[in-house]
Amino acid sequence: MRSAEALLRQIPSVDRLLANEIIMRSGLYRHETVEALREVLMELRERIIAGETDAVPNDDELARRTVELANARARKGLRRVINATGVLLHSNLGRACLSQEAALAVLDAASGYSTLEYDAEKGMRGSRSEHIEEQLCEITGCEAALVANNNAAAVLLILSSIASGGNVIISRGELVEIGGGFRVPDIIAQCGCELREVGTTNKTRLSDYADAIDSNTRALLKVHSSNFKIVGFTQSVTVRELAGLGGMHGIPVIEDVGSGALIDMRRFGVYDEPMPGESLKNGADIVSFSGDKLLGGPQCGIVLGRKEHISAMKKHPLYRAFRVGKMTVAALEATLRVYADPFVAERDIPVLAMLAITEPALRARAEKLRGEIQNRGGHVDVVHSKSMMGGGAIPGLELDSYAIAPTAEHCAEEIDGKLRALPVPIIGHIEKDRLLLDVRAMFEDDFGYIADSVAEITK
Ligand SMILES: *Cc1c(COP(=O)(O)O)cnc(C)c1O
Repeated sequence: MRSAEALLRQIPSVDRLLANEIIMRSGLYRHETVEALREVLMELRERIIAGETDAVPNDDELARRTVELANARARKGLRRVINATGVLLHSNLGRACLSQEAALAVLDAASGYSTLEYDAEKGMRGSRSEHIEEQLCEITGCEAALVANNNAAAVLLILSSIASGGNVIISRGELVEIGGGFRVPDIIAQCGCELREVGTTNKTRLSDYADAIDSNTRALLKVHSSNFKIVGFTQSVTVRELAGLGGMHGIPVIEDVGSGALIDMRRFGVYDEPMPGESLKNGADIVSFSGDKLLGGPQCGIVLGRKEHISAMKKHPLYRAFRVGKMTVAALEATLRVYADPFVAERDIPVLAMLAITEPALRARAEKLRGEIQNRGGHVDVVHSKSMMGGGAIPGLELDSYAIAPTAEHCAEEIDGKLRALPVPIIGHIEKDRLLLDVRAMFEDDFGYIADSVAEITK
């Protein structure tokens, strides 16, 4: 055994290792690798002195350890994951994925200057959202539109601008909480409005609204109960009926439709998802919805409706506070562009493509993935699974899907933990003691990575 001193002398210098190919190609910043390298070498030194090792690893091995450590450190924040949960609009995983075009538009807007508030033709100040508003009017047939940071902000802006100081009538069955603390009663209170709840949890009639109207009523509000469903003995009032009542009293009808499907979802077997354009046609004065749910765009809130109301909202101080940034403008504009042709939308917008994909195609996908995993020595089965919309959209809708599942002899929790610990974590879900990796929300580009990782862990 060599003396500790001789071994210590063999430890390479930081500078030499920094020039190592593995470190150079790691994509890490120099300050990140220097710090990790010092730590790796320090540990080695301590182990030599303690007599725990009798050899100095070669440069490549030390470089690998360094990159692993530095990556583990850099990994703490936001990073990509593979969504194998089968939940398409998973709020914890960032809801909708942008189309390629929208993602490129964001890159373009983010990395340079832009005409965010500049009219290049006239050489003067322009509007941040005029173009998007025109697109929205074309797609939905609305009179006017505006964009805010998210739908919660949109609702806050609508009520603050239209109903502050008065009362707002809403059905008890619609006093919902949407994930992340959006509670309709709290929002109404925050806007300086008094809440008038009418009807019961399962039944509300038009006469309930009519009886509650008084001289201080500023709005009739309808909220889509996005994330739950009451079944059985139920009754609710349609927007059309509410609009008739509101019209008689000169009170605006507001509908928060939640998801904002801009193409007819019936083609995907989804029947009770309100469309913003329909809501307006049925007489709603103002409609709001999210940009990153079924629309498939960036996080934002969209308000459509009558010009007088939208103009009033744009003058409200909250409009400035809730305005969207240039990356959102770029992404939304690019996303809305494809809606002129529903078939292009269905092809290019990931959430719509994920809805449109057929069961045989999903099965073929799962089989392909199983084949690739088997070729690499791993063991998985193809099994039936159910995927869901998520993101508070279309509760109760289960879509038949397929998943790959590590064979039964593997411990589901252990495999799940290992897949979540990967540099790009793979997030599945455990059902009846088996880990299922649903293929519906996976991207084909990730198949190589998924096959490598799953094979390695299920060998
Ligand atoms: C999702 C949802 C919201 C909240 O929208 P964000 O864009 O997340 O702020 C509000 N209302 C309804 C009905 C929803 O479904």
